[in-house]
Order: sequence, then structure tokens, then C-alpha cells
Amino acid sequence: MKVFVLGLDGATWDVLKPLAESGDLPTLARLMKVGASGTLNSIFPPLSPVAWTGIMTGKNSGKHGVFEFLEYSHNPLVGRVNSSKAIQTDLVWEILGRHGKSTVAGGVPMSYPARPAPGFYLGDFLSPANAPDFSSDPALMRELETALGEPYRAWSTAVHDGGNEANALKELTEYLEHHLKAVQFLMKRCPWDLFMFDLMATDRIQHELWHVWETAHREAQGRDLSKIREGYVDFWRKLDAGIARIEADLPPDTTLLLISDHGFGAVDWYVNFNVWLLDRGDIALQDTLYVKQKKWFYDRGATPQWFYNLMVKFHMAEQRVGRFRGKQTGPIERLAESAFLSKRHVDWSKTKAYAQGNFGQIFINIKGRQPMGCVDPEDVRPLMDEIKAGLMKIPHPETGEPLVDKVLEREDLYEGPHAHLAPDLTVVLKDWRYRTIGLHDFTTNKLISPSFGPTGDHRMEGVLIASGRGVKRGAHLNPDASLLDVTPTILHLLGVPIPPDMDGRPMNELFDPSIIPETETETEAESDATPGEPTFAPVSVEPTDAAGYTEEEDAAIQQRLADLGYL
Ligand SMILES: [Zn+2]
Repeated sequence: MKVFVLGLDGATWDVLKPLAESGDLPTLARLMKVGASGTLNSIFPPLSPVAWTGIMTGKNSGKHGVFEFLEYSHNPLVGRVNSSKAIQTDLVWEILGRHGKSTVAGGVPMSYPARPAPGFYLGDFLSPANAPDFSSDPALMRELETALGEPYRAWSTAVHDGGNEANALKELTEYLEHHLKAVQFLMKRCPWDLFMFDLMATDRIQHELWHVWETAHREAQGRDLSKIREGYVDFWRKLDAGIARIEADLPPDTTLLLISDHGFGAVDWYVNFNVWLLDRGDIALQDTLYVKQKKWFYDRGATPQWFYNLMVKFHMAEQRVGRFRGKQTGPIERLAESAFLSKRHVDWSKTKAYAQGNFGQIFINIKGRQPMGCVDPEDVRPLMDEIKAGLMKIPHPETGEPLVDKVLEREDLYEGPHAHLAPDLTVVLKDWRYRTIGLHDFTTNKLISPSFGPTGDHRMEGVLIASGRGVKRGAHLNPDASLLDVTPTILHLLGVPIPPDMDGRPMNELFDPSIIPETETETEAESDATPGEPTFAPVSVEPTDAAGYTEEEDAAIQQRLADLGYL
């Protein structure tokens, strides 16, 4: 019995269904018919590091400790890139390893550096460049690269900005084919009980080229993108053909799960809550002439967004707006950063609340928690209520209805020993074409401004298609199924007990009960049971730095994330 999980990162029915119906995706159309399918809900916030950690652990962030790309641990000025070392609970392959089963995993966000478990592990787009421990077995890595005929590519930062759609399409199609080839090599080369690989190209292409698919998008207005659109459809055809090749190579006793960690849709507007908090006086700026000058320019529109638009006009916008903040490298970036109002100009000792993160996360600056926290613990509740009420009054600029759907508190989203790291408030917008901006400081000077950079962004509704061993023909996934159910399902299919503290549940509705080995929920005592014999060598390379990334690696990864539009 084996389980093969292929991540079609960010895949949505809004693209797959019409293309399957038009005959462009014959493999997916067939698998949906002979197998089972449904909408796999993401978890909020639907960001790759959070979503994939949920997939690998079956638990919410309060139990595994990963809340975002960066972890600030309540110090608003010092963020570190999260890695597998930040995950405070077992990964599915660690549990499987204790039961004598081995895993091959590659491209899975947050899985680097490989944690000791039997199998072969390959890093992902959050790994440092040229890391000696990028894979768990350098000799096998060399074999893989020989088979690929080129160095392995963990990420692509190709962007569409400035009319570069054709180039982005070409690069991202190559990136997809490169990973499909790697999957085909590894699935035959290595022994495995679980195989898990995430194809990041499907996420990247939707971020960059959503306007090519949904031509009503502002970015596509007045432009003939029909040629690019053909290429975009061809990208999905190539994915479909790749899945057909993979399926043909699967051992006969395998269950195949095609999953996405979140869906996708258009983004038209950015919402920057720090602008709102600054207007309200919750964010205080330093009282110096220098900062007053910065604020004067900021009020008149001199922001990184303005600078970025200028660069686009002069065809210089190879890089994302995120380049103009954070740990900058080049002279232009440094100039841009020093020119604009930023978090370095905030007076933290007088700042009551700030937004930090990619999905509307707001933190109260609490005395004794943040380094310069100033809100007394007894004032936290009234302040949160006031901020919540204020947020609910923000009107949707087009309809006048409330823009905010709800403001969640920590307890609404998180439960577990690490929940104290979570934001105090998380804002969920009603209209997902409006996207809370992932920038910590003052990229724009308006609460709501037209989006720039990526034209597509994440949605809660991901996909799942299951076929092969044990899958009931035509079965439908329960509507409340979420990606936290993936690990319990894998354990269930492989006959391994499900630890009792898992938040997800096995997707029994998809499978014929007779083929599933009897498993019960594991008791506490059993989780420390004697480990089984690993079927082959555990991780052979020691991680480079026990504390996490080195400062240079951290800076380089933050830069990569900025280039992708995440920071
Ligand atoms: Zn993703």
C-alpha cells in the first residue's frame, strides 16, 4: 500500500473545471470520473507556509507554531524566515518513519531542512541557495541533476510586471516541466510508502498571469493577450500530460491524491491597515524633524508604490515593490528604502497597534510582551473592541457595504501551546478581490489602493482529486473537508494510528472501507511506541545551522519573498 500526494499548488476549480470540460485536461477529467473529487478548504490565512505545515502535520498553527512566512515572536522589528525547525510537532513522515515506512518529499514548502526520517527529502522555494543540506542525500541529488540535465531549480522569481508576460510564461512552463521530470525520476529511483511533491509552478503562474486567464482584469484592459492565453492553457495541458505520465508509473497498490493548498482568484485592490492605524493614531511616528519630513512626502504620495509605478513606466520594474524595504542589497533599493517612511520611523513606545503579515493580521503592542509595548494589559480588551468596531465600519469603495466580513480573535483561529505567538486580530474581507497587503510599513498612503504586481491571489477553496487503490468511483469530498485532513488520511491509508491531538480527520467518505486496514486513534502511550525498522537510510547530512538560517541566508530568502511580492 502506498500513497502518492502531488501538490498542484494553488490549483482552483475555477481554472481546472472549464479546462477539463473543454477537453484540455483529459487526464484530470478521467481521474475525476473514475475517482473521487471535491473542494479541499484551506485554512486561514491561506498562505503556503501555513497551509503546507497544516498538510504535513494535520494540526492548526497553535499546535505547530508556524503562522506566516516570517516569525517575529512579538518583536515588530526582527523577523526570521520560518523553516522546518520552527515546526513544533511531528511531520507525517516522522510518524510514518516510526512505523517503518519511508517517504520521498520534494518542493514541499516548510519541509527544509529535512528532519530525520527514513526516506529522501528535497528542499523547496524557502530553502537557502546552494545549501549543502538542500537534499537529504547529496549523492542521490547528483543523480537527479544528471537525469534532469541541469541544476535543480527550487524556485522561479519570474514576474509579469512591465509587459513581461511572455517571458514569465516561458520560465514558469519550464519550471513546471523541470519539476515533473524530477518527480518522475524520484518516484522510480527511490523506495517509498509516501511520496509527496509540491509543484510550485501552478501557484506562481496564477499569481503572475491571472489577468491572462480572466481578461476582465484591469491589467488586461486594451491589450491583446490572446497568444499568452494560449500558452497559459498549454501550461495546464502540460501539467495534465505530466500527471498522466506519473499515473502510468505508479505501483498498482497506490492511492493517488492530487491536492492544492488553497485556491486562486483575481486581486484588484490592496488594503493597507497600517495606513488606517496611522490615521487613527494607533501608530505613532517619532517626533523628529527628519521623520516629519518623511511624513510630509508620504502624505503627498511619495511611497514605494509611487516609486514602483515610476519604474514600470520606465520599464525598470523587473523587481517587486517589496524590494524597496527590508534588508536591501543594491544601491537603488537602499536609496528607495531610506527615502520613504517606514517602520524604522515608528515610535514603538507610543504605538498601540500595528498590522504585520500577509493576511490582515493586527497585533496590540502590549506592555511586557513586545519589547517596547505600551498598552496596559487591562486596556487590551477595550482597544481590541474599538479597533474591531472601527474596521467593521470601513465601507467597500464600490458598493458602500462593509468591506470587512469579520474580525477574528486569536481563539477563533488557533488552539494549542503556541497560540500565544498568533496575532491578536485577523481581518477577513468580504470581497477577496480586495487583498490585505503583505507589507509591514507604509508602501502606500491610502487604506485602499489599486493592486500592483501579482494579478492573482489565494482563495480558501482548493481542490482534491483522488484515484487508485481504495477510492470509491464518483465519491464526493465532504464540504467541510480541509487540508488538515490530508495527514490523517495518509496515516489511515497506510494503516498507521492517528495521534489523538490531530485537528484533521481521515476522509473516509472517499474510500472503500474494506481496503483500509483497521486503525484506531492512537493513545498517548502508543505514540511513544517502539519505532519500526526504517526501510532505508535516514537523513545523512546534518543541518548547517542548528539555530535556523544564517543571517545571510535569512536575508537572501527574505529578498526572494520580496521579489515574489510576499513581504
Ligand atoms: Zn500555496
